[in-house]
Amino acid sequence: MELKKPHLVFIPYPAQGHINPMMQLAKLLHSRGFFITFVNTDFAHKRQSESRGLDSLDCLDGFRFETISDDKPPSAGEVIQDAQAFCKSVQENCVEPLRDLLRKLHGTSDRPGVTCIIWDRYMTFTLQIAQELEIPEVMFCPTAACTFMAIAHYSELIRRGFAPLKDESYMSNGYLDTTIDWIPGMKEIRLRDLPSFIRTTDPDDFFLNYAVNAAKIALKASAIIFNTFDDLEHEVLHAIQSMFFPRMYTIGPLLLQSRLLPDNELKSVKSSMWKEEENCLKWLDSHEASSIIYVNFGSITVITEQQLMEFAWGIANSNHPFLWVIRPDLVTGGHKNLPQDLMDEIEGRGMLVTWCPQEEVLAHPSIDVFLTHCGWNSTLESISFGVPMLCWPFFADQHTNCRYACNEWGVGMEIDNNLKREEIRVLIEEVMTGEKGKEMRKRAMKWKKSAEIAIEEGGSSHTNLELLIHDLLRPRD
Ligand code: UDP
Repeated sequence: MELKKPHLVFIPYPAQGHINPMMQLAKLLHSRGFFITFVNTDFAHKRQSESRGLDSLDCLDGFRFETISDDKPPSAGEVIQDAQAFCKSVQENCVEPLRDLLRKLHGTSDRPGVTCIIWDRYMTFTLQIAQELEIPEVMFCPTAACTFMAIAHYSELIRRGFAPLKDESYMSNGYLDTTIDWIPGMKEIRLRDLPSFIRTTDPDDFFLNYAVNAAKIALKASAIIFNTFDDLEHEVLHAIQSMFFPRMYTIGPLLLQSRLLPDNELKSVKSSMWKEEENCLKWLDSHEASSIIYVNFGSITVITEQQLMEFAWGIANSNHPFLWVIRPDLVTGGHKNLPQDLMDEIEGRGMLVTWCPQEEVLAHPSIDVFLTHCGWNSTLESISFGVPMLCWPFFADQHTNCRYACNEWGVGMEIDNNLKREEIRVLIEEVMTGEKGKEMRKRAMKWKKSAEIAIEEGGSSHTNLELLIHDLLRPRD
C-alpha cells in the first residue's frame, strides 16, 4: 500500500527557521496522502531528538526521518555563534551524503520511488543532484518574497557599483539610505533595507558571494514555494512570477495551515532544537489580556553583553510584565547571568526562559507586543496572531522584514541599531499605551484576518496549496 504512495523528500537547511516551515509543509502534504522522507543533518536531528524525543517517530505511518552526515559534533548544548563557519560546513560536508541518500531512496524497495524533492533554497547543491538522478524538484523559499527578490538582484547591485561598499565609512555616512527604485515590486527600498550581506567592503566576502551564487542556482529551480500570502506581498510576488517562476506556489502562513490539521501523533511532533520550557504558558495564563511584552531574538542572532544590558534595563524600566527568551548561546562569548540588582528589580514581573513554544506564546491572549529580531518566521507568526512588533533587526533578511513590518504593513516600530535603554523603554511605552501603538494593533488585527482568509477554502494560499498538490501528483513526461 505505502509503496504506491507518491513520495516527497524534504531537504531543509539545518537551522530552526528553515526546519520549522518545511516540517509544517511536510505534515500538510502527509495528511494529503504523500509518503514523506524528511532529511535532517546529524546535527539538526540529534538536537531535535534530544529536545523532545524525535527518534520514536521513525515508525510513524508514512513519515520517516533520514539523516545525512554534516561532520559537526552533534552535542545538545553546543553553542552555534558562527553562522559563516556553520554555513560553510554544510556546503562542504553534506553534498556526498545527500547524493548517496537520494540514490538509495530512489532505488529502495521498502518505500516508494521519489516523486519529487522539495529543497530549501539554501541547500543549493540539491538541485544538481536532483538533475543527475532525474528526480523532479521544487524549491522551498524560507524567507519573504521581498528578500528573495532583493537577493535575486544582488548581481545587478554589484554591477551598478552599490556593493561591495567602497570603504568602511559607507556604513555610517548616510550612503545606506540611498533609495533603490529599480527592483521590480519593491518600491522605495533603501540599501539598508536590503538583506545585510551587501554591507561589506570585501568583494570576496563569504556571505555576499554565497548569496549571489545561491540566487543564480535558485533561478534554475523548476518551481518555487513561498511561505507568505498574496495580500501581504502582492506586488513583489507578481514581479517574481512574471520574471522568474511561472510555477509559483504562495501557500503561507504555513503555521496557520498546519494548525488546522486533525490532531494525531504527527501533528504534535515539534522540531525545536532547544528544549521548550512550557511552564511559561502557565505563567502567561496568570496574566491579564494584552499585558505582556514578549522578547525573543530567534535561533541565530547573537548580541553583546552591553546590548543584553541595554535591553534588560530598558525592559525592566518599562514596568510592564515580560517573558524573555535568552538562549544559552545568545550572548557573545557564552552565557551571562543578569546582575543581581536587575534581577531584584524584575522579580515577580519578568519570566526568563531559554527556549519557548513560540507559536503558543504568540497565540496567547496575554501577549501585547513582540520585541523581535524580525526573522521571517517570527515576523509571519506575529502577523498571524495579530501581535504588533518592536523590531531590532540584526542581520541577513531581518532588515528587509523590519522595513516591511514598519513601513508597508504598519505593524512594527524599529529600535535603533545602537540601542539605548531609555529608547527601548520609551518605545515599549509607545506601543503599549500610545496612539501609535493603537494604530499598530489595528493594523496587526487587519493582517491577522487577511492571513486567515488566505488559508480558508477559496483563499489564495488554500487554492495555491491545492494547485501544488495537483501538480505534484501529475504524471511527468
Ligand atoms: N522559536 C521557538 N522558540 C523560541 C525561539 C524561536 O519556537 O524560543 C521558533 C520560532 O517560532 C520560529 C523559529 O524558531 O519558527 C525562528 O525562526 P526565525 O525565522 O524567526 O528566526 P531565525 O532563528 O532564523 O533567526
